[in-house]
Amino acid sequence: MPSTGQRLPDPALVVLVGASGSGKSTWAEQRYRREETVSSDALRGVLGSGPHDLDASDDAFSVLETVVAARVGRGLTTVVDTLGLDQERRERWLGLARAAGLPAAAVLFDVPERECRRRNAARDRPVPALVLGGQLRRVSEVAAALADEGWDLVVEYDGGEAAATATAATPRPAPEADRRSSQGLRIMLQLSRFPWGEDPAAWLREVALAADAAGFAGLALMDHLIQIPQVDRAWEPIPEPWVSLGLLAGLDTRLQLGTLVTPATFRPAGITAKAAATGRG
Ligand code: GDP
Ligand code: MG
Repeated sequence: MPSTGQRLPDPALVVLVGASGSGKSTWAEQRYRREETVSSDALRGVLGSGPHDLDASDDAFSVLETVVAARVGRGLTTVVDTLGLDQERRERWLGLARAAGLPAAAVLFDVPERECRRRNAARDRPVPALVLGGQLRRVSEVAAALADEGWDLVVEYDGGEAAATATAATPRPAPEADRRSSQGLRIMLQLSRFPWGEDPAAWLREVALAADAAGFAGLALMDHLIQIPQVDRAWEPIPEPWVSLGLLAGLDTRLQLGTLVTPATFRPAGITAKAAATGRG
């Protein structure tokens, strides 16, 4: 079974399976935007007095099912953050993904029992020890069942060390032979969303180095004055492509750089030609 050091497809349905304190919510927070995760605890907090309000469970799960169906139906990445122990629910979510043509992954949090109990005990509202014991037993049963449920991918998360090592590794350029697919295609990465926080240049450099390491043949930016509605909200960031490509051209990569399309009316033709020619030099 692959570990979560491996990349999951995106968009995808991602169903988390694990006992309380196995690190599901932390894992999701580190990898996905908040809107992409649907959490039964969070919904108990919205519909009840807090994440631990079990009286609000029915309402929370009813809203959760609605949100999962709507998001998956639109082909949006959806991380389902519940214990994941209910087979009927898992099958329903998998069916939704199939109907939407979305890949479906189950992530199994197979954290050693002692570690789970330690984390649980350290929480401000621990789950009772007996309840946790029952969850851990059911997680082992579900672990055995997942392989036959028809998931496109079942990955195992064993507590963070493997994933931490994988993300800490410095990207190294992929060998040139990797730059073509088995069909001889050269695949470029087109960037359309720019969640660069406080440091746009550092973010762009990091993405380009990772794309080079992953074996993309090139990287393309969009040429729009404001973000386009198909991608994000109008006020979200989008860089001027030619000046950004100039920055990326200074990196030691083998990426072919460009824009997918450059509107000829944005700049005098000579400036566009000069910018492109300068990048190639
Ligand atoms: P969940 O109940 O499965 O959603 O677990 P949480 O993500 O809420 O994590 C439970 C506790 O374990 C929290 O205090 C986290 O800070 C801690 N935790 C989560 N992931 C890790 C991890 O990979 N390593 C360690 N040492 N602690 C973690
Ligand atoms: Mg949680």
